[in-house]
Amino acid sequence: MPEFRNVFAGNPLDREAAHRRDEDWVSKQIDSVDALVLPLRNLTFPMRQTEGAVRLCWSPLPAGADIERHPLLLLGSSDGAARFAINEAAAPNRFQLPDDAEFQDLRAAAPVLDADDAGIAAQARAFLDWHERHRHCAVCGAETSAIQGGISRKCTACPAEHFPRTDPVVITVVIDRERDRCLLGRQASWPPGMFSALAGFIDHGESIEDAVRREVAEESGIDAVNVRYHSSQPWPFPSSLMIGCHADAGSSDINYDDWEMDDVQWFTRAEINDSLSKPAAQLGQPGLPDGSLSLPGPMAIAHTLITAWANGDV
Ligand SMILES: [Zn+2]
Repeated sequence: MPEFRNVFAGNPLDREAAHRRDEDWVSKQIDSVDALVLPLRNLTFPMRQTEGAVRLCWSPLPAGADIERHPLLLLGSSDGAARFAINEAAAPNRFQLPDDAEFQDLRAAAPVLDADDAGIAAQARAFLDWHERHRHCAVCGAETSAIQGGISRKCTACPAEHFPRTDPVVITVVIDRERDRCLLGRQASWPPGMFSALAGFIDHGESIEDAVRREVAEESGIDAVNVRYHSSQPWPFPSSLMIGCHADAGSSDINYDDWEMDDVQWFTRAEINDSLSKPAAQLGQPGLPDGSLSLPGPMAIAHTLITAWANGDV
């Protein structure tokens, strides 16, 4: 099976894993005239429409930014030039952006954002959000400060060092024994008619397969067997990794906890294909006019997993 690239995957930057351990190298990049920075405003991104696609807007580094409170975070490099992200509050109105740049919410803009830029933005959003929320040590409560371009934060009072983390989530499309139906569920807060793959955080001490079996059992009462990995998706809201799987059903009777799920159903391939054939703009939108099945749009890995099954690829 060829590798599948989901939205937010495939960040093209060189993360400079070896160089970034060298504080002098990082300082040199900050002083370089070639370095560029992505200023985030309340976790939104400067973007502009170009001829091809919507692109991120980068600025030269402003002098005198408040990098103690809002550190310059080294994302990596592109063609040898360092790329950073920072909270715009570090140097308000000092970033040089194109006149037509507008700050946009990443989740809303992702479907039209250039694919490489979406990958960079996913890294920047998760990275900056973690730093903004970890200014104090989880061990002793003292202040922490960013080191090595933000790869970690060191406590100013105790030896603790804290690393940005990613939370793994399993998301699974379960296929029935006859291979003609797939299992999808919905939560009460979702728009009417919307169903998606079953998903949940991986618990401590669980493998991906363990987590799939537990989540599917909890949310549907179905035994999931023969768990198969398909592809994954960084999901920077705030910092998850969606691990997309397919599994076979070892049973067929649905039994779910209505505290967790609003509805869980088997859907035939015909029903799924009918929903997927609707205009892309309608996918993932609330309240389809006819009240029929609504599936997540192409930006979501759930769409990838459902489509792969409907096409007979898995
Ligand atoms: Zn501490």
